[in-house]
Amino acid sequence: MVSPLPPIGLGTWENDDPTQCARSVRTAIELGYRHVDTAEHYGNESAVGDGIEEADAPRDELFLATKVHPISGGLTYDEVLEEADASMERLGVDYLDLLYVHWPVGEYEAAETLGAFEHLVEADRVRHVGVSNFDVDLLDEAREVLDSPLFAHQVELHPFLPQRELVEDAQRHEYTLVAYSPLARGEALTNETICDIAEQYETSPAQVALAWVTSHENVVAIPKATSSAHLEDNLGAAALELDDEDIARIDDIERRTRFVERDGAPWQ
Ligand code: NAP
Repeated sequence: MVSPLPPIGLGTWENDDPTQCARSVRTAIELGYRHVDTAEHYGNESAVGDGIEEADAPRDELFLATKVHPISGGLTYDEVLEEADASMERLGVDYLDLLYVHWPVGEYEAAETLGAFEHLVEADRVRHVGVSNFDVDLLDEAREVLDSPLFAHQVELHPFLPQRELVEDAQRHEYTLVAYSPLARGEALTNETICDIAEQYETSPAQVALAWVTSHENVVAIPKATSSAHLEDNLGAAALELDDEDIARIDDIERRTRFVERDGAPWQ
């Protein structure tokens, strides 16, 4: 299966200044980004909505994803319905392309939480169901309780955290793995192997890291970028194809680092 999502989307975590955030989103859409990722927990949905409005792209050409959070909102049935409505209100849209469970912690309970997601799908308010920061057991459980297909799993994935088991699960069960922090929060850009390969292809380390992430079947990336130069650079990664030998060199990087943690995460 080839993911229905474009290989490169836009991350917006910590793009906190409303004017800057709206400008980044608008610039990204004008450059050709079509998948925009936010979350109620980022506190920037209104600014993301402003950027979308300013870019004036037809709504049906955009793929807009947000997330309900166990702490900022809550994951009971009623809370999910209320938060999804509030997110749509802030974003200025009447449907979401993708809604994720941000973390399977706190009140997360597969049947109840995902039951609310099903309700939103049936009511035409949410097109696709996603989960984030799950492990394979939680993914199995989610698939068991869902009538709609599980569309996406969003997890940290970059050259220092290749997530092979989760990539395989996405390929086997035919959903998209959305790679967050695909630049290792910027740290991949100074890695010697990545810089060396970038020089060889006469491109940037960011493009090499992103091309490696998206070389995996069913995997797309959502790098966060603020400036138009970074936005343009990252989008260009979609056209970069690395040789098998260079992919293998990045596979062989020994460093293992996870940058995003929270109490109760399934891997702890
Ligand atoms: P990231 O995308 O790996 O890295 C972002 C950093 O790289 C920023 O400092 C950015 O700087 C810099 N950068 C971007 N493009 C660059 C380029 N071409 N050259 C040089 N530097 C560049 O990290 P992230 O923000 O953690 O992850 C991406 C997105 O994933 C988030 O924004 C969010 O949407 C999502 N996410 C989801 C979760 C979850 O729990 N589901 C957790 C973390 C992240 P500038 O801003 O200055 O451009």
